[in-house]
Amino acid sequence: MFWRTALPRAGRPALKEPRRISGGVRLQTVVAGRIATARVRPAWENFSAGGNGLPEHGREKDLVAGVDLGGTKIYTALADRRGKLLAELKVPTGGPDPERVAARIAETVGEVLRRAGADGISALGIGAPGPLDAVTGVVQQAPNLGWRDVPLREKLERLLRVPVAVDNDASLAALGEHCYGAGRGVRHMVYVTVSTGVGGGLILDGKLYHGAGCAAGEIGHITVAPDGPPCGCGNRGCLEALASGTAMARAARELVAAGGGRAILAAAGGRAEAITARAVAEAAAAGDAEAARILTAAGRALGTGLAAVINLLNPELLVLGGGAMRVGPVFWRAMEEELRRRALAHPLGQVRLVPAALGERSGVLGAVALALRRADGEAAPPAKSGS
Ligand SMILES: [Zn+2]
Repeated sequence: MFWRTALPRAGRPALKEPRRISGGVRLQTVVAGRIATARVRPAWENFSAGGNGLPEHGREKDLVAGVDLGGTKIYTALADRRGKLLAELKVPTGGPDPERVAARIAETVGEVLRRAGADGISALGIGAPGPLDAVTGVVQQAPNLGWRDVPLREKLERLLRVPVAVDNDASLAALGEHCYGAGRGVRHMVYVTVSTGVGGGLILDGKLYHGAGCAAGEIGHITVAPDGPPCGCGNRGCLEALASGTAMARAARELVAAGGGRAILAAAGGRAEAITARAVAEAAAAGDAEAARILTAAGRALGTGLAAVINLLNPELLVLGGGAMRVGPVFWRAMEEELRRRALAHPLGQVRLVPAALGERSGVLGAVALALRRADGEAAPPAKSGS
């Protein structure tokens, strides 16, 4: 039996705290509420990063910062050499202007330092939406931010005056799970996240795998239905177009538009435009057959895509993360059935499927891991020995 868990349950907090992650890394104590409160503290808004944020004197060689940059939020953490988080902060990204975003990132670094009573970092790692060039640190295209060819690394090094390493956000989530989460000690691991989209990252032979142009791991754009619904990438029938939370919600809205889906509509408060994957999950959990069919179709699509991944890469571990992974057992059963139907017996027998262990922290902890390598003088893209 390769399925081993503890299915993620809807509504369960991603991380209890303080929490001991197997093997000794201890995540510290910042609860979601405190992070949320921090967002409105006047001290933050008034905080001046001055020079920007990092005094030249007394730079703390043992600390690094990790940043998970998204279209809506900047998530910044300060960590020590063991990956222990000393302070965390989430702020809204606050608009697409690259100069402004870079300045805001520098301010968050200053703020986490202030909160931890520390006065400097030796390096910063940052995960950004791709595609991007991890060697030059240029974000080639980030639709969520409206960016094209933004030299993010250069901008941040200029502001912070420390070495900066940039990588793809999903790759860093994979790295985070590999270094501190569900994939510790594993040599061949695939991380898959299902949320509004479907993303992935590859740890092959103990190292984060980038491919020829840092574009490896785009699991969401594996074609699973040649004539399926259109995908944002221009193709049809991509995994992302069939198994993401967005895809589940769209299927439900189409059902409602065709006169069905009453239980799903009720779970969304009677408003078709408010239907989300969660509403589908709630209706399915209450026994609604139409909702269960949507989750089954999405789960089958995911199983089809993951069977291709297993056949291609023969991983020992598939780490599954993202909010839409928590839609319930109907989805998981359909995925598992499809995997058994499609994956080759030998690689299927060797792989374990486990939920991601770090919740929303996987990306920021991957950025911390990247920063630690950068601090040690390692050139990007990062390498990691698997033992
Ligand atoms: Zn696509």
